[in-house]
Amino acid sequence: MADTIAKPARQSISAPNRPAEEAVRTRIRVLLPLPLEGPLDYWDDGRFDAPLRPGDIVLVPLGPRHVHGVVWDLPDEAGSFNAEKLKAVVEKIDLPPFPDDLRQLIDWVANYTLTPPGAVLKMALSVPEALDPLQPIRAYAAGGPEAERMTEARARVLDVAKSGPPRTVSDLAREAAVGEGVVRGLVKSGTLVAVDLPAEVPLGRPDLDLPGPTLSPAQAEAATAIESVVMTRAYKTVLLEGVTGSGKTEVYFDAIATALKADPGGQVLVMVPEIALTSQWLERFAQRFGVEPLLWHSDLGQAYRRRAWRQVAKGAASVVVGARSALFLPFPDLRLIVIDEEQDASYKQEDGVLYNARDMAVVRGTLAKIPVILVSATPSLETVVNVRNDRYGHVDLPNRHGGASMPEIQAIDMRETPPERGRWLSPPLVAAMGDTLLAGEQILLFLNRRGYAPLTLCRTCGHRFQCPNCSAWLVEHRYAGQVQCHHCGFSQPAPEICPACGKPGTLVACGPGVERLAEEVALRFPAARIGVMASDTMTGPRAIADMIARMTHHEIDIVIGTQLVAKGHHFPMLTLVGIVDADLGLEGGDPRASERTYQQLSQVSGRAGRAERPGRVMLQSYMPDHPVMAALISGDREAFLDREIRARQAGHLPPFGRLVALIVSGPDHNSVLQAGRALARNAPREKGVETFGPAPAPLSLLRGRHRYRLLLKAPRAVNVQAIVRRWLATTRLPKKVRIQVDVDPYSFM
Ligand code: ADP
Ligand code: ZN
Repeated sequence: MADTIAKPARQSISAPNRPAEEAVRTRIRVLLPLPLEGPLDYWDDGRFDAPLRPGDIVLVPLGPRHVHGVVWDLPDEAGSFNAEKLKAVVEKIDLPPFPDDLRQLIDWVANYTLTPPGAVLKMALSVPEALDPLQPIRAYAAGGPEAERMTEARARVLDVAKSGPPRTVSDLAREAAVGEGVVRGLVKSGTLVAVDLPAEVPLGRPDLDLPGPTLSPAQAEAATAIESVVMTRAYKTVLLEGVTGSGKTEVYFDAIATALKADPGGQVLVMVPEIALTSQWLERFAQRFGVEPLLWHSDLGQAYRRRAWRQVAKGAASVVVGARSALFLPFPDLRLIVIDEEQDASYKQEDGVLYNARDMAVVRGTLAKIPVILVSATPSLETVVNVRNDRYGHVDLPNRHGGASMPEIQAIDMRETPPERGRWLSPPLVAAMGDTLLAGEQILLFLNRRGYAPLTLCRTCGHRFQCPNCSAWLVEHRYAGQVQCHHCGFSQPAPEICPACGKPGTLVACGPGVERLAEEVALRFPAARIGVMASDTMTGPRAIADMIARMTHHEIDIVIGTQLVAKGHHFPMLTLVGIVDADLGLEGGDPRASERTYQQLSQVSGRAGRAERPGRVMLQSYMPDHPVMAALISGDREAFLDREIRARQAGHLPPFGRLVALIVSGPDHNSVLQAGRALARNAPREKGVETFGPAPAPLSLLRGRHRYRLLLKAPRAVNVQAIVRRWLATTRLPKKVRIQVDVDPYSFM
């Protein structure tokens, strides 16, 4: 298939120092997963069956080490190189090559985010172990002579072994509920015999002929519209919009089936914001397609990830559901990308390579020439504008599925009906909670604040507990008996005496976190069964799935949670949602504050009344007339969007203008400030480009580093990457100062 070789000619040079009959060696370029400026030159000295081609995964020498890399394209102008110095590729890895669209995506993301391409490649090669062939799995089966000494534990293992396929020592031990030593004993005595299982267990293919649920007329119409896009097998982004509970998931399941029917060997990527929360989603998928999809996120064990990466690379995995990093998997035959909750801020990676997986998924769609479906109840303003400009298609599901009505939303004016001192729930909300419990229904209280109290201070001397490494208060976590910094992870036991004045018993908690709210709820409703759901009280995906199951089976009456509870869950008996502090997200100078608050509160509200019983939502607010509250209450989202769009337009803010943030940081305050000022003095002067700062970042100290921010604002048509590159290259900066470039920033901290 020589026609797929990238355009630039291969430069073949007969080796000058070798006899003529030796193989011709060819200069190739290899991108390494290291923060280098670009690919490095190597020889393909003809030792492999076929000449190396772009995309091949190889092992090359680098200094004293050998590292994995990917053969990259030769630049159009090959430039000069030192033939004497080049080393030869050592090994070609026995895996399919990186697909073209992935290599192009890596270059694209690197260029867009001003990151070295090798740093982006590192995300695509995040499990280097996956490149080594998997070893067969050593399993054991019953079959040898009975052991002489047959204890009860040994007998149990033997029973288990006889009752199923060969299994590993740890699996047998787990199933028989014995220690691994017992199993090994039986191996030693020859009672269990070894069987080598193939390392790569074949994955089940989704059954596309299983009858899904009968789609409602509105769903069927949406599904047909999306099917016609999928069937073009060309690039197109479509927004699938519909209120929470309108049945969007069912519609995109249909699109997945369509895509895989059209291309039986093809692959589909579904991206979801917080993978740990999708136990319900996975069950639904398994029901619909008869198999589980492949998962991809950072919490999975190394062994799973290694296997999964290979299964994707070999095309064996047909559907992958994953967090943002799944975008960089080497799908050889990607046919469709679905991005659920496309507005979710967690698609933006905030460390390492600062990229937005939603936007880059659209880029991968363009490069791979495949459709992309964005799914949301409250699409981002960027996407709404793209729909209004006809860059994206639009499919709408206006109503909740099965006639469930949207919840009734009302604001509680906290100035008029405040809670009692030291309490956080206002009388109207407390009354509504009482009614709901009486009716045998469930309640969700939402407060996006982990811990017991956001601030602890000394009543006597006024001392406030601050993180030693960050400009942030320490948050008391009473369950853990600690005060913690939510930015750097610093923690210490909660003190009993004030470290400043030495007085005992003077420390007071200020403000509520979910733990404190749970305390109030337990006092007010002693008979209610309460669950607290926050990322630090849930020890991993299992605990979250457990809590969700207990909620679904109505073993909990009141769940109190942070944004963890806001996402995608479906609890039929949940009829009251109380938003404890609706104003919380509106603080600060984030241009997306209103949009985000609106999205988050509608998402939480959408948990209420998802089945037959109607739901209601109460927003506790000190500014019930704020446009965000008004839009939530009236349900007039279009008016809210129009208003936001006008404001962004007037302010030349995204998506009507571009923003790039520079975050200057370092251990020494003075050099950081000097660097910030040097950048400001040398700021670009292109027409229409404005720069602001340096200003101390809201988190002016983070993990012991001082931080200043600069912001560049430019019209849409401006190539901000070129400008920023030049800006950085021409500014002399003090040493020990780091500059992080954040193109399209989402966080302004
Ligand atoms: P969304 O993704 O828009 O929030 P879902 O797809 O989760 O909505 O659907 C909401 C609820 O309605 C789910 O419990 C789902 O199982 C159910 N549902 C959706 N479509 C159908 C259908 N066609 N037949 C039966 N149940 C459906
Ligand atoms: Zn800290």
